[in-house]
Amino acid sequence: MAFLFMVISRTSIAQINSFRLQASGLTCALCARSIHKNLETVAWISRVETDLEKSEFVISIKPDMPVDADMITKKVEDAGFGVASLIVIARVAQENLIPDQHLTLNGMSMHIVAENRDAKAGEVSLRLVDKSFLGSKEQKKFSKLSKHDCFITGKASGDCCKAAGITAGSRIFHVII
Ligand SMILES: [Zn+2]
Repeated sequence: MAFLFMVISRTSIAQINSFRLQASGLTCALCARSIHKNLETVAWISRVETDLEKSEFVISIKPDMPVDADMITKKVEDAGFGVASLIVIARVAQENLIPDQHLTLNGMSMHIVAENRDAKAGEVSLRLVDKSFLGSKEQKKFSKLSKHDCFITGKASGDCCKAAGITAGSRIFHVII
């Protein structure tokens, strides 16, 4: 008797699952609470988990909703603190993982500026390297990552982003895998 293997292929939907935020300037538990409270006011955020010891926040998002990483920076800064690191945790397909490619997930257009040949389709971490998501030391370090105009201005520009069908002048985020 032959065994029949059934492969149930689930449609793999490329989308963002969560953000991992590291804040800077936190000195006490109360500081974390004010960031936490601010983030919870964002409509597309479903849950915020805080690790006080590492000043880390795991921000879960509602499925299929457009998101905006700038809003996270704004909420952190409104609370009086800074963003040291922001990582997008997303499910992506293999063809999304080519360097200098563009990827739009949950309404967020991203330009992959550094490659990682080992990156596999599935859940990946995309670190935002635009200066508003970095501490001052790292701003310097990452500033040489790309010479594209879009990296300097944060806006899609003709030479690179337009080819990917991203409207010129719209916000473009830069990530490393
Ligand atoms: Zn671009």
